[in-house]
Amino acid sequence: MLGFTRIRRVAPIAVNTHGGRAKCLQRLIRLDLPVPETVALSFDAVHRLAEGQAFDKKALLRVFGDAPLLSVRPSSEDPDWGGPGAILNIGMNDARHAELTESHGAEAADALYLRFVQAFAVHVERLDPELFEFDASVPVHEALKSALEAHEDETGDPFPQDPAHQLGQVLRSMARAWEGTTARLLRQAKGAPADAGLGLIVQSMALGLGPGESGAGVVQLVDEQTGAPVIKGRYLRQAQGRAALGKGACGVLYLSKDERGESLEEAQPDLFAKLVEMTRLCRVRLREEMQVEFTISEGKLFVLDAVRVPRSSRAALRIAVQLAEDGIIPREEAILRVPARSLTELLHQQVDPTDSRDVLAKGIAASPGGAVGRIVFNSTDAQTYEARGEPCIMVRRETTPEDIRGMHSSVGILTERGGVTSHAAVIARGIGMPCVVGASIRINSRERTLTLEDGRKLEEGDVITLDGSAGEALLGAVRLLPPVKDHWYVTLMDWADAIRDIGVRANADTPSDAAVARNFKAQGIGLCRTEHMFFEGDRLTVMREMIFAAKHEDRAEAIARLLPMQRSDFIELFCIMEGLPVCIRLFDPPLHEFLPSDREGAKELAEALDLPLSDVTRRIEWLSEFNPMLGMRGVRLGITFPEIYEMQARAIFEATIEASKHGAPVVPEIMIPLVSAKREVELVKTQIDGVAAAVRNETGAEFTYRLGVMVETPRAALRAGDIAQNAAFLSFGTNDLTQMAYGLSRDDAGRFMNAYVQQGVFPEDPFHTLDFEGVGELLKIGAERGRKVRPELTVAVCGEHGGNPESIAFCRAAGFDYVSCSPFRVPVARLAAAQLVAADAK
Ligand code: PEP
Ligand code: MG
Repeated sequence: MLGFTRIRRVAPIAVNTHGGRAKCLQRLIRLDLPVPETVALSFDAVHRLAEGQAFDKKALLRVFGDAPLLSVRPSSEDPDWGGPGAILNIGMNDARHAELTESHGAEAADALYLRFVQAFAVHVERLDPELFEFDASVPVHEALKSALEAHEDETGDPFPQDPAHQLGQVLRSMARAWEGTTARLLRQAKGAPADAGLGLIVQSMALGLGPGESGAGVVQLVDEQTGAPVIKGRYLRQAQGRAALGKGACGVLYLSKDERGESLEEAQPDLFAKLVEMTRLCRVRLREEMQVEFTISEGKLFVLDAVRVPRSSRAALRIAVQLAEDGIIPREEAILRVPARSLTELLHQQVDPTDSRDVLAKGIAASPGGAVGRIVFNSTDAQTYEARGEPCIMVRRETTPEDIRGMHSSVGILTERGGVTSHAAVIARGIGMPCVVGASIRINSRERTLTLEDGRKLEEGDVITLDGSAGEALLGAVRLLPPVKDHWYVTLMDWADAIRDIGVRANADTPSDAAVARNFKAQGIGLCRTEHMFFEGDRLTVMREMIFAAKHEDRAEAIARLLPMQRSDFIELFCIMEGLPVCIRLFDPPLHEFLPSDREGAKELAEALDLPLSDVTRRIEWLSEFNPMLGMRGVRLGITFPEIYEMQARAIFEATIEASKHGAPVVPEIMIPLVSAKREVELVKTQIDGVAAAVRNETGAEFTYRLGVMVETPRAALRAGDIAQNAAFLSFGTNDLTQMAYGLSRDDAGRFMNAYVQQGVFPEDPFHTLDFEGVGELLKIGAERGRKVRPELTVAVCGEHGGNPESIAFCRAAGFDYVSCSPFRVPVARLAAAQLVAADAK
């Protein structure tokens, strides 16, 4: 026989057997709050109910005594997994209707009966909802009559009168709704396991109708958007259930005094005070901001239910910190309560309102923040741009799940169709990425163009700015402002930093990156890709001259022009970082990134170099590589043309001396890229030590530096013991290491990655999520072998994975000293790292 449990102080109720709502109701009862009689059906009972097992409905009804009305509500393990909607007023029939007409008046009795007939017909008997919808102008009495008639017409039977039968039907239909395929898929999409159970709650209804003060309402003590303390909620007289309070309901009272209208506080100060006190008690004892659902029945207050206040990421952070500041939860708990990834949303860049804006298109502001990127029209292109390190904005008619990979590779999403709950909008908010939907554009995906209302046309690769907060797409790169950081954010991050035991640095190539990194409290720069300092303008030309030089003298001349540029770059970086470590990677330019890709570019270069076009074309051909990512990159360039790294070392040392004069002493870190053999490190070390000696001699200044190696080839990881003999630190470049461990091209994998992930070949794109089993093993081997030879060796990761919470957990467990990630991911990494410590302490 199917069991049920009266919820009492000591009843055996657990979240994993009866669901969160049942457990919460038990807590409310333990707080002596006036909760009406409540019975819980376990997951197991509900499952058996769905399978058709009989149960003693009369016995269940007897618990509630003398024929009250009942409600049934779902109780799943996690409220986010959803569940069937509540059904109220079970037990209404003609006889009860007559009694209530006597005691509460005809209108109240009609409303109660109508509500139940509607819910029963539509949700239990699955009749056409349209037959049971009535215009507000139809008097309740007539609506009830029509509903009862419609029921009889459709089913051939009068409306069921037996409360036990009604209850049995309601319970069984809710149990079956949970087992349906659509419901299962929906909750699995929210992370529920395939066998997630549903509990059901049967509760005696306190009538919010009748003589004296009667009504229903909800109350909470914080604002769900900002997390600020405020008594918020609604109360409707002569009403029942949350649904009655929905938007547009007339006659709704405010809770606390409000200029806009009548409030419960003024109308019933004692009841109001009691209600607020109960909600405060919930906050303290349930250690959470709760939204309390209540009913006032003839002047008496009842608490029907309480749920976590739904909240924005910003509110979640403030609530967690405030609870800890009030001593209700420990700081570690507050740290754990804020999902690390939600900080990205919180710390969005915003489009600078003072910068000029040429509005290309307007749409719905679906996800906040600003982003600048190049237009792409499909997922594959988005991934290609991302692999090249070029931010892109994906423009689609609308998005589908197939686009998710591309969305992850983009910095913003713009769609022609859709509303605030469209796929693009929901996913973008989830990722915390700016998104504008339903924009005034026409897309031609085949031609890869988009046409604006005024007839202008944009193409793939054109730069636009997306203002997800204003719902606008703007021409070109509009200035972006760093996000605002408030007291709550700063406090939480201070607490996080205080317990964190793995360092977090930023990958920063330019002074502006470094400034963002400082702003986000990175503990230094973990990777400065020096070749990125030469992507623009005149500098690119000098860089190309150096790469193009066939003769030593020509190269020496280009290098001499690069030296002062590099020196001033480094001085600026050192000054911004004020003595924090700065790890400078020597040139690692995949040559193709610096060669002109078309005739026009070749012509420009010929002009700049004052060479005939044919010479330039021939040289481009000569320099072209079949596989540039595995070609003359990194240390191979440094060994072949030692003067390049010598110039960089000189620039670093001269900048060190200069920056140390004005501020904290600088100890630069110099990192050699793409190493695969011990001898490469020995050769470069000898060169650099030589430059250091020369600069010391020339200037008479003293300085120290740390030389380290970037582990990006599987061989370097395996031979880390050899390599560490000449290295103060090893930093794992997991982008190249993933590329080489799998033999996957970083630039081309996008073409088949979708198919691979969809078919389960890879659980995830290994360029996004560190492959713990394979690449991860190389990391562990490298760290272990390196440290065996040199116990004080600093070990770090600086590939894209460095900002990913799961990878941070992996690196911490493997004993790494720090992770380094892009500046905007630094706060996420700081919090994620602290959460590991907080979780350990639990
Ligand atoms: C890496 O390979 O992981 C890395 C950080 O270097 P890059 O991305 O510049 O190749
Ligand atoms: Mg690399």
